[in-house]
Amino acid sequence: MRLTRTLALAATAAAALCIGAVIPAAAATSPDNGSDVPTFQEFAASTFRDVDGSYIVNGDEVISNRGELRKFYDVLVGPATPIDGLIVNTVSGTDDKWSAQQVGNLTYCVSTAFGTRHADVVNAMASGAALWEAASSKIKFQYVSSADGNCTTRNKSVVFSVEPVQTTQYIARAFFPSTPDRQQNVLIDDSIWSSGSWTPTNILGHELGHVLGFRHEHTRPESGTCFEDNNWRPLTPYDSASIMHYPQCNGSSDDLSMTSTDRAGIVALYGN
Ligand SMILES: [Zn+2]
Repeated sequence: MRLTRTLALAATAAAALCIGAVIPAAAATSPDNGSDVPTFQEFAASTFRDVDGSYIVNGDEVISNRGELRKFYDVLVGPATPIDGLIVNTVSGTDDKWSAQQVGNLTYCVSTAFGTRHADVVNAMASGAALWEAASSKIKFQYVSSADGNCTTRNKSVVFSVEPVQTTQYIARAFFPSTPDRQQNVLIDDSIWSSGSWTPTNILGHELGHVLGFRHEHTRPESGTCFEDNNWRPLTPYDSASIMHYPQCNGSSDDLSMTSTDRAGIVALYGN
């Protein structure tokens, strides 16, 4: 049962994550345009919309609204420019990162709506955060338990909220430093507790990598698949075993664990 569940999740993740590979397939069944690329309307209609109305792209990354989705689409269908060699997200060519002060106090709450799993989520968040905190003394995720009873994106006493979600689209999803306040949350589906060799600690470590500004390592040309876009800057040489590299995208690790290259990458962006 557990194996079946795991395989089903992996298949779902692979389909949802590799959006660059999905586009040609969509085009093949598109009767109303003659090109190899779906129209924006087709792309938008086929993009999963989350519980808060945002769009989910690249498997677990949030886009606020249709205007932002249009920009994402334009980059996706534009000319691909391979860039040579962890990678940081960029917005209009600028690193998408926290200030030195903010990254040393990234406060969060864990919603009591997790119920009997609340303590498990608190522990997994702490151990996922610890992966990055151990790599750089500049990083500090601060759990604020007093906000747990009102743990939503509207709670201004914390930078972000950690909330449960029920979806078959992803195991968990996060946000980037540039994401608007109203969408700065980490959403976690119950499947996090049955994801085989991907431990909750490593899954949340991956999501917190996005929170710190890191993109999926498999968008780099060296992976040969799962291309997303070129809005990023390399911090290290390509690392097929990175915590930010999905195993099913020609990755060389099967457990999403953190590598020494990941630790070098965060030092390169935020300091030691
Ligand atoms: Zn991700």
